[in-house]
Amino acid sequence: MATYTVDVYAFFVNGADSRTNIDRVKQDISNANRAWKGCIKFVLKGIYFRKSKLIVNASSIPADKVFKNRQIDPLIKSARNATGNKIGIYVLYLSGDYLAEGRARKVIGVGGTELVSFKNSTDYKLFGRVLLTDKAAGRYTLAHEFGHVLFNHYNVMRKKFIHDDPSGPYINSQIGRRDRAHNNDRKNLMFPISPSVTPIVTSQQCQIAKMSKIVRVQNDDIGNNHDLKNIHFF
Ligand SMILES: [Zn+2]
Repeated sequence: MATYTVDVYAFFVNGADSRTNIDRVKQDISNANRAWKGCIKFVLKGIYFRKSKLIVNASSIPADKVFKNRQIDPLIKSARNATGNKIGIYVLYLSGDYLAEGRARKVIGVGGTELVSFKNSTDYKLFGRVLLTDKAAGRYTLAHEFGHVLFNHYNVMRKKFIHDDPSGPYINSQIGRRDRAHNNDRKNLMFPISPSVTPIVTSQQCQIAKMSKIVRVQNDDIGNNHDLKNIHFF
């Protein structure tokens, strides 16, 4: 039976010690694998600490255009460099509880994709990137941000990338705003606030997510072990 896998690379600029961070990322990955069970398996491929012991506080990063931020952009570039530009999802752990106010308040995670190359609507390469704050620890935030990465597909009709989650949109009844990236089902992984019990991923969501260019289809059993010998610096 084919296994759908996504490679994950974790990077730390949160100032926590390495043992704490290794436990943290293992918990985040296992929560993600619980939420996405039967659909996609996330495989932790490498753990990277910053040579300079740099600490980036989430509260210094506004919650919109985070990946264009002058602190974040160079970090993602050196993270990419450190892996040799591997396709996968790059997770950057920041210190502090919340990003600075921007598009929204009290943001503890952000996820999306960046295009590497584009030949045509079916032939393109991208990678995922996620930021997490300390407040995202022990929750399903990483699992949710993985959704933001995997649902981002090129839409031929609209000639652009869209958040193609069949369970959306989330409709904010107070202000009447539609948000394609989320949905209204409190139990679903893509509800704006990630639930404390294992969230649901529907079979339609699973089908779409599996079509992401970041997902690899493998025919062998890939086993269960995080390879923690793979600790590097970036
Ligand atoms: Zn979200």
